[in-house]
Amino acid sequence: APEPGSCVRVEREEDGALVRLRLDPPHRANPVFDAPLLRDLARALGDVERDPAVRGLIVCGREPLVFCYGADIDSISELESVEEATRIGRAGQEIFQRLHRLSRSGGGRVTTVAAVGGPVPGGACEVSLACDYIVLADDPRSRIGLPEVMLGILPGWGGCQRLPRRLGVPKALGAILTGKLYGARQAKKLGLVDRLAHPVYLDRIAADVATGRERLRRPERGYWTWLIDRNPAALAVIKSQARKGVMEQTKGHYPAPLRALEIAADAVRSPLQEGLQREAAALGQLALSPQSRALVRIFRTGEAVKRRAAGADGEKPARFTRAAVLGAGIMGGGIASLLAEKRIPTRLKDLAQHQLDEAQSAHEQRIAKKRKRRSLEAYQADAAIDRLELTREDLGFASCDFLIEAIAERLDVKRAVLGQFAEFVGPDTVIATNTSSLSVDAIADGLPHPERVIGMHFFNPVAKMPLVEVIRGAATSDAVVRRVVQLAIDLGKTPVVCADAPGFVVNRLLAPYLDEAMRLFESGSAPAELDRLALGFGLPMGPFTLLDEVGLDIGAHTVASLEAAFGERMAPSKVLEPLVAAGHLGKKSGRGIFLYGKGEDGDELNPALRRPASAPAVSSLSSEDRVDRMVLPMVNEAARILAEGVVESAAELDLATVYGMGFAPFRGGVLAYADARGLANVVERLRELAASPEVSKREGGRARFEPCEPLVELAALGGTFYG
Ligand code: NAD
Repeated sequence: APEPGSCVRVEREEDGALVRLRLDPPHRANPVFDAPLLRDLARALGDVERDPAVRGLIVCGREPLVFCYGADIDSISELESVEEATRIGRAGQEIFQRLHRLSRSGGGRVTTVAAVGGPVPGGACEVSLACDYIVLADDPRSRIGLPEVMLGILPGWGGCQRLPRRLGVPKALGAILTGKLYGARQAKKLGLVDRLAHPVYLDRIAADVATGRERLRRPERGYWTWLIDRNPAALAVIKSQARKGVMEQTKGHYPAPLRALEIAADAVRSPLQEGLQREAAALGQLALSPQSRALVRIFRTGEAVKRRAAGADGEKPARFTRAAVLGAGIMGGGIASLLAEKRIPTRLKDLAQHQLDEAQSAHEQRIAKKRKRRSLEAYQADAAIDRLELTREDLGFASCDFLIEAIAERLDVKRAVLGQFAEFVGPDTVIATNTSSLSVDAIADGLPHPERVIGMHFFNPVAKMPLVEVIRGAATSDAVVRRVVQLAIDLGKTPVVCADAPGFVVNRLLAPYLDEAMRLFESGSAPAELDRLALGFGLPMGPFTLLDEVGLDIGAHTVASLEAAFGERMAPSKVLEPLVAAGHLGKKSGRGIFLYGKGEDGDELNPALRRPASAPAVSSLSSEDRVDRMVLPMVNEAARILAEGVVESAAELDLATVYGMGFAPFRGGVLAYADARGLANVVERLRELAASPEVSKREGGRARFEPCEPLVELAALGGTFYG
């Protein structure tokens, strides 16, 4: 534990008229508001309160782009009661209130300035809001906002009170209910911060503001804001619109935004103290809610897997300096674009010029968009474009230390091409494959250095999907795994390390789920209805829409390889075969399960999709039965994946399901869902479904639903996946 007083440095300037409180906790590489930091902030504020000479105060971080990463999330997950959580909310509020009472805007004698930069989320934003002024470092790494709802809680250290007072209710709701983090220019435009400063001048400009050498004026908030704040009827309209928006987004699964909405919307019409009390009470309840527990666990697992990259000595593995990507299709183009954006010069090879042209223009468009949103500076955008080289030749690969292939999904082709390239690249080059269904070991077989061969399975669309499955082959070395895990992190992804088992994690779980939806269609359920049920359960997209997005051909290919590996429990329905044969492959071809294109918005069924003649016109199954039919096979398969040791822990498997398929985050993933439901109940339901006539009579039906041994055993012991 750090010495009392060591977490906040009190620096006096200008003959003691100006005081800087520098948050610099010695025990944290990434400072957070844990108990020692809060204690020392309170102590430092005590110094200022007792010193009548102080006229200006600056709260800042150890460096311009390192302030504080918000509240300590580990301690949120350790809270044991609503009362304890409420108390912590009140304690933080009270410290920030002392800062407020010193401030001019709180009636005090000191001009207070938050001089912040880098990530400024949650509690870090709230302490800033308690100051008279916020000066933010003008840098692409600066991101400020109140993301608490993403963790199932609300801004409980005054954020729900101070942001509406600063911005007016509508804009504050926009920020709080989405949990969005704003870049520097956006934050300035929104009025969340008062001034931007180049990081080099942050300290100096903050001093000018705190001493009154520079005067900042808040922009007028405008007539409408003024009116809404005072007019109960207008406020009621705003609230009901916001509530509707939240319900649309969350389907009512997440309590936090609804509570935040009530409290933040009423903030401007009630005294601060009252609002703070309601805020802390709500924080207490939400922090103990199962939704928050699930979201916090996913977040923490994500952080934990990222720490894995470091070696035993805590050192980060060496960055790759030059990358080669083979194949400029959907995946290869996306991967190359990301590598180039993230500062790795990348050479992209394809046989077809038009594929290269498309990849180049997609890269340019994506970077231009980032530039427009100001998440990249002009020079950075130019450099990102320059870092991507395209070629149809096999020359110029000798200096690449990382190579990834994303060519056709055929073992013979991948082996031939990698065999050839292994000769072109250097002796230490890491060779990765983006295969989704082939064995990494089979691909590595025959290559000169199998210890340097690894799977790096990105998801489509590459730029958006947060997960990367890192596939460790039998021969892959630890050092190579760590380097590729670090690469995934540098690319902004969350890596989950998997063994080289068919379908890895995500596709292996998706296959039975998607196929079960087809089976339900065969027996009389409407695709749109099944899609709705999946959304209601908490999936981001229904199974039919998802298949159209992925491509029916790609889905069929993946399932075929899973059936080859696992046998009849993966045996696919035949309803999609005629569509694939006719080239109706989903969104990319304008028709798949639904119709897309002029006038269609994907609501209308493709008439080429036919039920078997024997199928009933309408299903007699309840909604609950149908959801169980789609979801429980995933639980069953997940139990197998975990028992086989494909991933190291239940938490990592769940992380993959949440980040790789968007499995209901508020449920915490497939296994957490099963735990919450009770494994005995899961086993019983699986057995009932296995015995139901619709399932038991078809090929592979029983095999899919009969609960697997590890699941049965765990349930019999009264255990849970999370132990
Ligand atoms: P794609 O058909 O869009 O792209 C493949 C590209 O490789 C084409 O541009 C083709 O011209 C090029 N190519 C073929 N042979 C080549 C060679 N010898 N040298 C250089 N280029 C060559 O395919 P895709 O969807 O991008 O998939 C590529 C790989 O990624 C496959 O292994 C696939 O299984 C995997 N994958 C695909 C998805 C997905 O959703 N599409 C997701 C994850 C992984």
